[in-house]
Amino acid sequence: VKILLLGSQHGNELLGEKLYAHILKHQPELADHVQYVVGNPEARRQRKRFIESDLNRSYNGRETTYEERRATYILDIIHEQSFDLILDLHTTTCVQPPCLIVPSIHPELARFLRACSLTRVVHINHAIAKTSLIGACPQAIAIEVNKNDVSPQLLSSLCADIHRFIKQEATHTKKQIYEVTELLAKGSFTESQAGQLVNFTRSSHGFYPILVGENSYKKHTDYLGFKADKMYEIEV
Ligand SMILES: [Zn+2]
Repeated sequence: VKILLLGSQHGNELLGEKLYAHILKHQPELADHVQYVVGNPEARRQRKRFIESDLNRSYNGRETTYEERRATYILDIIHEQSFDLILDLHTTTCVQPPCLIVPSIHPELARFLRACSLTRVVHINHAIAKTSLIGACPQAIAIEVNKNDVSPQLLSSLCADIHRFIKQEATHTKKQIYEVTELLAKGSFTESQAGQLVNFTRSSHGFYPILVGENSYKKHTDYLGFKADKMYEIEV
């Protein structure tokens, strides 16, 4: 079983790096199955989200920006080594519980969904996923954790998930699937309205906000976060 841990697709996010260090120190038996790659080394050095374009929107086959060239390089590594699983590890400043992000609920991902103790799964059913890593690789899953929640307990729990994946074991937890078909446009909410949204909780507007935070208005994008119109539960 071969697993790729991809850290710092966004250079200022260190979940991957911390998880890999935790594995080497506390779970060395997992290290044989795991390879760690820094997604965006230049942005990591400069502690910035990206240099020229958001790497996780740069899997588009072009080679114009530093990140587009980096995306091609990462896909080459993935194609050469036939990984069973790619964990794309992100941290966020948005206040929300840890979640998984997938481009669809397909069989290649079921084995990790079964193994993983996280129950919230965001299904991005929107064109935005196409140029992200999870859109480009069927065996990739993104994990998003609030930066203050990256504790030794959380890292141990992710190690236990990886361990179960290797052994093909299950947690028997139900998953809540939040289906995102739209982005939350900046123009549609004022900053104070956006401030009242609670991630993963159905708002009075009828949708579940996801990855909406106090920095959303400052982001380089024209959207505040994701908008899930429905949530349903599955047993994997
Ligand atoms: Zn990120």
